[in-house]
This record gives sequence, structure tokens and C-alpha cells, in this order.
Amino acid sequence: MNNNRDRTNTNISCGQDGHDLARSMESTDWMEQVRNLNAEHALSTGKVRTFRLDVFGCQMNERDAETIAGMLTNMGYEQVSHDEPADIIVFVTCCVRENAEEKIYGHIGALSHECEKHGSIIVASGCMMQQPHVAEKIKKSYRNVKIVFGTHNIHDFPMLLHRYLTKRKRVFEVWEKEGRVIEDMPIKRSHRHKAWVNIVYGCNNFCTYCIVPYVRGRERSRRREDILEEIRALASDGCREITLLGQNVNSYGNDLGKKDLFARLLYDIETVDGIDRVRFMTSHPKDLSDSLIKAMKECSKVCEHLHLPFQAGSNRVLERMNRKYTREHYLDLVERIRDAVPDIALTTDIIVGFPGENEEDFEDTLDLVRRVRFDAAYTFIYSPRKGTPAEKWEQTESPETISKRFQRLLEIQTDISTQLAKKYEGRTVEVLVDGPSKSNPEMQSGRTRTGRLVNFKGDTDLTGQMADVNIIRAGAFWLEGKEGKRRG
Ligand code: SF4
Repeated sequence: MNNNRDRTNTNISCGQDGHDLARSMESTDWMEQVRNLNAEHALSTGKVRTFRLDVFGCQMNERDAETIAGMLTNMGYEQVSHDEPADIIVFVTCCVRENAEEKIYGHIGALSHECEKHGSIIVASGCMMQQPHVAEKIKKSYRNVKIVFGTHNIHDFPMLLHRYLTKRKRVFEVWEKEGRVIEDMPIKRSHRHKAWVNIVYGCNNFCTYCIVPYVRGRERSRRREDILEEIRALASDGCREITLLGQNVNSYGNDLGKKDLFARLLYDIETVDGIDRVRFMTSHPKDLSDSLIKAMKECSKVCEHLHLPFQAGSNRVLERMNRKYTREHYLDLVERIRDAVPDIALTTDIIVGFPGENEEDFEDTLDLVRRVRFDAAYTFIYSPRKGTPAEKWEQTESPETISKRFQRLLEIQTDISTQLAKKYEGRTVEVLVDGPSKSNPEMQSGRTRTGRLVNFKGDTDLTGQMADVNIIRAGAFWLEGKEGKRRG
């Protein structure tokens, strides 16, 4: 083991030395050392050390949390539920919006009592920690946070934890730059029947409002063989649905100097036995190629759902956002996708109140929403992010005006979502069942191929199975089924 890596305290460093295999082996060595410490602890106290996870933000964070849980499990920790005390409480943080950050500070602060009573320690990781001012604030004001690392050095966690356990000194280590993709880290998946599979990390687009390229680095694609090996292993373990993940998933392979690699990957996955459904997110309109649309049409496993953020309907605003497409291009894409896959469900992201957006611009957004008729839209009020170009731009509209526009958009979109949902009434749909519904455990819950949430009654537990469900009622964001029957 290379003990030169045993650095101390806050260390903002560059990790781009390319020794990814060595790093993965190094992590394995550190995991073994922590496991030994935990085995000694269990022998002397009769207690197994525990952890729990608090995950904020997008699917990339959910997936990172599975790696952190995998490492902790490998090191001998046992995961406990949210209402149980734990030795280690890990936060996987998000910084895309200011209120997400405030919420996280609030949650960390509220744990002081638990930390004092049970001797718990807090580990803070994820996008927020990539911002130096956040790491500084945590260091000064949140003493119960004992370990901090960022998005680029997750694999260092076992080494940092070992350092904390042996020296009992706070450890802050955040890499300023991304390293290469590290394979073969342990994973504790949240589900057996469905899985997230990272295919590309980071983003090169620099939309002027977005913090992601600064905290997740530039695009790095995984090797096609590594992705396929992971998917084959998932399939042989009973996984039925995979979601390919990337901040900009359809630019997969651009950094490898190859064209149309994402479309080719979809054809490759089509041949993996056992996988029934393939999803992917998030797609950028400027990178949605003809070959990808063709692959979506020809690959039977690719679900009839596309999440395609348009953000704003005005060309003037799109240009200021640096989105690199026009509303005309977006509308043309929608037409071509619907020609190729007629039943496709389209969902999107929309920002309201971007600096300089006036009433006319906003009307363009409403016009685009009415024309496309999205199945669902994730709508946000613009939130300035430190370090992005738009942070310095003047806001010309009052918060009241922006809030009223947001409400108007919400009403129009909810109306459209409800109308589209009503079309499901009386139909029988294929549902991949996730398990008991979170809001009503007597019902089972799952998703259609188009991504619609379905709740239904059933005598037998169909978790992880495909079921045919007859839809009797539909609301904007849910479908209710009469009875679910196992398919096949
Ligand atoms: S494409 Fe734009 S919005 Fe999406 S992650 Fe990259 S910079 Fe952010």
C-alpha cells in the first residue's frame, strides 16, 4: 500500500495522475484495514458499527450513494434506517439550488444532539463539498462533521475513514479536478430488479446558470466493455431494468473520439438477455442525433420515454443560457422523435425567472409547453449559483412576478399532464413493480414503460416482477389500477 496518500487535514489537490487501477486496489487495501478495525471493535464490545445515508439531489447522487454504501458494507458497517441512531451518518449533498444547500446545513445542524448522545460522526460528500467556501463553512461551523470529500475522490473514502478512526482528527480532502473513471468499486444497490448504470461523468456544456461542470468536472466516458460487463452481471443477478446515467448522457463517447457511440451502446444492450427495459437520462437537445432516434425506434428494450430538458421557450433566453439550440430546433426534434416512436412520453425541465426573462419570453415558454404537450415537467424558479456567469446578471423582474408566472406554468402543465393521463383509463399496461406504495402500503407500486407511476391492489407480492395492470383512474402524476396480474 502506498502510504504517501496518507495526507493530513484539508487538502485541495488535483487527482489526474491516471493510475485508476492502482487507486481501486488501494481502496480495497484501505477497506480491509478498516474492516479489521471494525472486527476488533465488534470483538471487544459485542457491537457492530452502523451507518445511514442522507441523499439529496439527482440520480447521479443516488448512484454515488450506492458506492458509498457498498464501501461501508465491505468495511463491516451495517446500514440502519433513518429513525435509528448510527455510528456514521453520510450526507451525499447537492448544490444545484440554493434552497437544497440551506436544507442540508439545517439537517446537519439538527444532528448535534444525536452526535453527542450516541457518539455518531457525520461524513459530508457530494457536489456541495466541491465548492471551497462550503468546505470552509463546514470546517468552521459544523464540528460534528469529521470527514469531508468531494465528487472526484469518492474512492478515497476508506483511506480517509481509516485516518479518522486511527488519529481521531477531522479529515477534509476534496480534489479540485476530476480523475479518470475508477472501476470495480463495491456497490450496495437500492433495488435488485432495477439499477442505475453510469456511462459518462461530468459535463462540458457550461450552461450559464449551472454549477454542475464546476463540481462534477469535464466529461469522462466509461469504456463500452466495462458498461456491458456491469449490465450483464446485473442481468444475471435478476435485474430487469437499467437506467443509463450521465449529466449529458447522449454525448457519451465524444471524449473517446468516437461518433454515435451512445446509439451503438443501445444496440449492444439490446442483446443482453434478462434485461427487459432500458432508460437513459439526461439528454441534451443539441446532442440528440438521428442515429440515436433510430436506435430508440429499433431497440425494443428502450422504453417509450424521453426526458429532454428545454429550459426556456425564448431564443433570446436560450442564447443567454448558452443552451446551443433554438426553440425551432427543439420543436423539430420533438416532431422527429414522435414520428419514430409515436407513443413516446416526453418530460422536460423548465426554468422560470432567468435573469432578463421578460413577459414575452415567458409567453414563448408557455407556447412551447402547449405545443409539445409534455407528460410531465420539472419546473424551477431560477436560483443563482455562486461561480456561474448568470450569478452576476441583474434580475429585471420582481419575485412576485416570477412567482405568478411559475404558478401559471404549473397550472397549464398540470392540466396537460392530467389530460394525457386520462388516456390510460380503461387500458391494460405493463408495470415493473417496485414494491408496496410509499403513500399506501396496502397498494403495490411500479412504473409503466412510459415512466408513469401506477398504484394497484394485488393478492400476491409482485415486487421485481412485470405485471399487467388494468387502469381504472388517472390523475396528473399517478395511475390507479384495479388488479395486477403477473405477466407471462
Ligand atoms: S448540460 Fe447544462 S444544465 Fe445540464 S449539467 Fe451540463 S451545464 Fe448543467
